[in-house]
Amino acid sequence: MLYREVADFYEKVEATTKRLEITALLVDMLRNASCDEIANVVYMTHGRLFPDFYPEKIGMAEKMAIRTLSTVCRMEQSKVEAMWKQVGDAGLLGEQMLRASSPSGLGSEALTVNEVHDSLSKMALSSGPGSQETKINLLARLLASSTPVEAKYILRIVMGKMRIGVAAMTLIDALSATFATKEDRDAVEIAFNITSDLGRVAVALCREGISGLSTLGLEVNVPVRSMLAERLPGLDEILAKMGGTAALDFKYDGLRMQAHIGDGRVRLFSRQLEEITDQFPEMLNAIASAFRGRSGIIEGECVPVDINTGEMLPFQVVSRRRGRKHGLEEAVEEFPVTLFLFDILLLDGRNFMEVPYRERRRKLEETIAENERVKLSTVKLVSTAAEAEDFFNLALQSGCEGVVAKSPADESVYQPGARGWLWIKYKKDYKAEMIDTVDLVVVGAFAGRGRRSGTYGALLMATYDKERQVFETVTKLGSGFDDETLFSLPDMLKTSLLPAKSGEVESRMVADFWFRPALVLEVIGAEVTHSPVHTCNWGKIKEGSGLAVRFPRFTGKFRKDKDAYDATASGEILEMYRMQLKKT
Ligand code: ATP
Repeated sequence: MLYREVADFYEKVEATTKRLEITALLVDMLRNASCDEIANVVYMTHGRLFPDFYPEKIGMAEKMAIRTLSTVCRMEQSKVEAMWKQVGDAGLLGEQMLRASSPSGLGSEALTVNEVHDSLSKMALSSGPGSQETKINLLARLLASSTPVEAKYILRIVMGKMRIGVAAMTLIDALSATFATKEDRDAVEIAFNITSDLGRVAVALCREGISGLSTLGLEVNVPVRSMLAERLPGLDEILAKMGGTAALDFKYDGLRMQAHIGDGRVRLFSRQLEEITDQFPEMLNAIASAFRGRSGIIEGECVPVDINTGEMLPFQVVSRRRGRKHGLEEAVEEFPVTLFLFDILLLDGRNFMEVPYRERRRKLEETIAENERVKLSTVKLVSTAAEAEDFFNLALQSGCEGVVAKSPADESVYQPGARGWLWIKYKKDYKAEMIDTVDLVVVGAFAGRGRRSGTYGALLMATYDKERQVFETVTKLGSGFDDETLFSLPDMLKTSLLPAKSGEVESRMVADFWFRPALVLEVIGAEVTHSPVHTCNWGKIKEGSGLAVRFPRFTGKFRKDKDAYDATASGEILEMYRMQLKKT
């Protein structure tokens, strides 16, 4: 398949925000790809080159892209730089420049999808001395053979800013519609949740249709998308929801960690599927010696512990360690972490995801010999509200933020990537008016006045509507920021700045600045109320009205572990609103 054809589809996709239309366009595009190309088409349409859990990113700096464009289009670097500032989007600039300059290679043989992917992969994989030149040469060669529209999308991928916004769930819709039936969609999503690899799912479907998915199983070193928890405002409600009995598990406030053990190695993955093995060197031997099998996948929460008192420390201490290369040794000594394990997904080739929770827990206990760094989470089966309350208080006294109730029923399987009622969380903040903090995405901002001139006066925050795949505004956030944070916001948001509102955002307000939805902030509010200006759950409770978070305050926590699509879902705000009504 020619990259030209793919780029033409992207043009059409970019021109609409309607999910059904986008899906139909994607189906047409996927039909044209062969099984040897489809993985690459899928990755690139998702704005990537590889599955999410691969660490390789192209990581081309703005300066290098400017140099390349200046060479290819034979224009002075300073001029390209000035135009870049004006246009603000590498893709659009590249498209304009190629239209104007018709570089030497134009008219040469058309690029295929695999050729483009191959060159971009080489760019991503090249590192060390000389890698900058290699990247520039590879990009220059690609651009010299590109049409202006092809160049637009190549440059966007290279800069990590593919903006056509095809989310994983839309690609799953399209893959199901292309290779199977609508009814098979769930099976396709499950295959993605297990493999975390849309490209692999696409190849299996292309080769053998829906039956091809049976070849995709759990594998050591391939991270599984994590199971998530729903929330309820009371322990009695949780017990009722779970049929009278629940296994309450301490809710540790740390970093979720999935440990993969196999071939004598331990590898660690975060909830974002990012490999974090190197950041926790002290855990590798500790896990290997605690694990009594040959290979497997286990999951838990990793928490920093005070070396003097043995007390759990706030989560921020671990997050400071993430991504750190220098000073890691000191951090390991100063803030060693302990992993509290709560689940097992795979053991010596046997898949435990389909096994009920109680049996999984038994297996986990059999498999783990606790040591100083690796422990089992504290769990208790409770059947009365009083027992549950006592256990919850014990969790708080032990430094945890609450409990996660796990259903002990036979159907209580591990649901990868899903937030369902088999796990329900209950935290101490739920005793406040609004039952939980929410994680909201910055989609816009209003210029600051007075003491805030030079930065933003307020941020326009949104939730994500998973069904319609749009971001809906839910509040204007202006409090809870210290001066340093407040004045660093423009810089922090610089790379997400857009010339106009993103097609993925639905807003009735007109902001002074618009951003690509990316940055996620933890926010606590007083309550969820009706609002004529916010689009969150528009018309669902009352005609001509949405829901808003009233009196929002930033808690100080940037949720760097979440991307925009993992932010609080609009459906969760609706649930919170309903729970509030029940309480009053
Ligand atoms: P929060 O808003 O509480 O930080 P979240 O939005 O990051 O939660 P949730 O699904 O809402 O994610 O809460 C579940 C998270 O709680 C898990 O991802 C895991 O990191 C953490 N956790 C801590 N202890 C446990 C436990 N015993 N069982 C399951 N998850 C646990």
